[in-house]
Amino acid sequence: MLYFFKGKYRLMEKLIITVAPTGNVPDRKTSPALPVTPDEIAEDVYRCYRAGAAIAHIHARDENGKPTADPQVFKVIMEKVKQKCDIIIQFSTGARGGGGAEERGACIALKPEMASLATGSSNFARSVNYNPPDLIKDLIRRMLRYGVKPEIEAFDLSALEYASYLMKKGLLKAPLHVNLVLNVPGSLQGTPRNLFFLMESIPAGCTWSVTSIGKSHHQLSALALILGGHVRTGIEDGHDLEAGKPATNAELVQRIAVLARAYERDLADPAEARSILGLS
Ligand code: MG
Repeated sequence: MLYFFKGKYRLMEKLIITVAPTGNVPDRKTSPALPVTPDEIAEDVYRCYRAGAAIAHIHARDENGKPTADPQVFKVIMEKVKQKCDIIIQFSTGARGGGGAEERGACIALKPEMASLATGSSNFARSVNYNPPDLIKDLIRRMLRYGVKPEIEAFDLSALEYASYLMKKGLLKAPLHVNLVLNVPGSLQGTPRNLFFLMESIPAGCTWSVTSIGKSHHQLSALALILGGHVRTGIEDGHDLEAGKPATNAELVQRIAVLARAYERDLADPAEARSILGLS
């Protein structure tokens, strides 16, 4: 199947589904199926892998269920996931956990295949998505040192343009993998117009995906599928299958898999996703 992007017809790659099972914000009160402990996360990631996910975007929680940047917890999660399947592991270096590059980037030394990298600041609903230039560069240098591929998290156009700038300066290596994050309160709304607007500025040759939070998730995931992008889903991003009916992560992955089938897009297994993303 072909799709049109950046003035050219291109061959549609298989769809990479990323699952974000835990995040820093959700709790069991609103999401009873939230995996919290390393064992729960590994078990849940495995169910998502069976349902078609090729990447797991991992956040860690401490013994009280609170977000932690402790690399020991990330290490245990990684080991337990690897015992079950070969899904690509992507650690979060996101701002919500707090702390500077030392703290946020500690998990990079564990050499996950990927790590998230927000290349700009914006707002969350109740806090700042704080990513100053020096912190971004510090996280990139850690990723270069340990051979970790960044996933560029773009909450706004400026983050995409800064990633392009860092690529031109030689700090970020092409081809980038870019994740367009939409509908976070305080950032860009999850509308087709905003998706098209951001797509215009994805550097040529990059792979890209869409994370659209809450209500806009289903529609913008479908658009991403049709337009040649990839899709992230999961309880971190706050989706219900129906209003007021909390979902499991595997159910959310299954829903994207059903959409993909409807639009004649095959799912990439982890090995195929590695090849699409240029992971060695
Ligand atoms: Mg995250």
